[in-house]
Amino acid sequence: MARIDVEAFEDEWEDDHAFVEPRRKTDALSESAKRKVAEHEVARVVAVDRGRITVVFEDELLPSRFAGGMRGTKVSVGDRVRVVPPRDVNDVARITELLDRDSWLIRTGDDAQEDERVVVANADQIVVVLTADHLDVGVRFADRVLVAASVGRLDPVLCLNKVDLVTDRSTLDDAVARYEAIGVPVRITSAETGEGVDELRMLLAGTWTAFTGHSGVGKSSLFNLLVPDVDQVVAEIGRFGGRHTTVAAIAVPVPGLEAWLVDTPGVRSFGLGTLDADHLADHLPELAQLDCELDDCLHDGEPGCRLPAALAAGEVHPARLDTYRRLLSALRDAEG
Ligand code: GDP
Ligand code: ZN
Repeated sequence: MARIDVEAFEDEWEDDHAFVEPRRKTDALSESAKRKVAEHEVARVVAVDRGRITVVFEDELLPSRFAGGMRGTKVSVGDRVRVVPPRDVNDVARITELLDRDSWLIRTGDDAQEDERVVVANADQIVVVLTADHLDVGVRFADRVLVAASVGRLDPVLCLNKVDLVTDRSTLDDAVARYEAIGVPVRITSAETGEGVDELRMLLAGTWTAFTGHSGVGKSSLFNLLVPDVDQVVAEIGRFGGRHTTVAAIAVPVPGLEAWLVDTPGVRSFGLGTLDADHLADHLPELAQLDCELDDCLHDGEPGCRLPAALAAGEVHPARLDTYRRLLSALRDAEG
């Protein structure tokens, strides 16, 4: 997603009159909504596009900018902010405060980088979409997102999509069992046939749920099934700044579910550059619960470590241990 370059934004703002022209929604803001915003009520960021911020307040979309004194602030989709209303139809709402986050999904470009991006703030869940016919590549990505979700306090869900392309479904059993054993719900879907989409939808009610996955796994196709008229809704939300689908996250409401879905740009990798190797095991539930009695054990061959016994007892899946070792070594390399 785009990082906000406030300086560029300010310049662009002055020049870009098209952006501050009267907009239907702002014109239509009710008197009571105007009064409430005036009391600096809390709004929620639904789109950030190169510094152009759209917030939702009482079901109304408001184009927004930072108030003076907020320069240099970075907000992400899902952030809660206080706003003051536009002064007139040529104006926009002003963000006066960024509120603390309950959760955050942070990724870095690679494990060595600390160029962290908050992919989404305050989301309840993150759905990692994988293609069921190429699980091996997908689960490595998923394992990284699961770690990031644990760090940022979101609940992960796995969605194995394109199941219509899988001829032998027993090939999925091991992965399903592996993730359910660590408390991660798994949904098997096909955006092509619609299979499993209702079961996925049921997980979304009342939540803010972000979706992530490599490009091409079917996120957009699933959104089309989950959110009626999604393209229209995205156009509506994005109209204050135009949406660059490849760089920006966007939140869209799901009618009837009291839910918001956050579409995040397809990514190739999910870097964990903000995490210390020493803390990695805390974010794999089966290792966090290992009951290893050694102090500060990294469960990496230390004599007396309980890991081999847990592995033999089936408490830790070999593929997850493999993930742990890979990530541990990647994070150590990154730490140099
Ligand atoms: P995104 O990049 O994750 O948003 O993926 P898209 O939704 O654009 O899907 C990429 C391609 O996969 C498109 O050609 C879709 O039609 C196709 N696709 C998506 N979901 C499914 C599925 O469940 N089964 C099959 N066979 N194809 C799918
Ligand atoms: Zn140990």
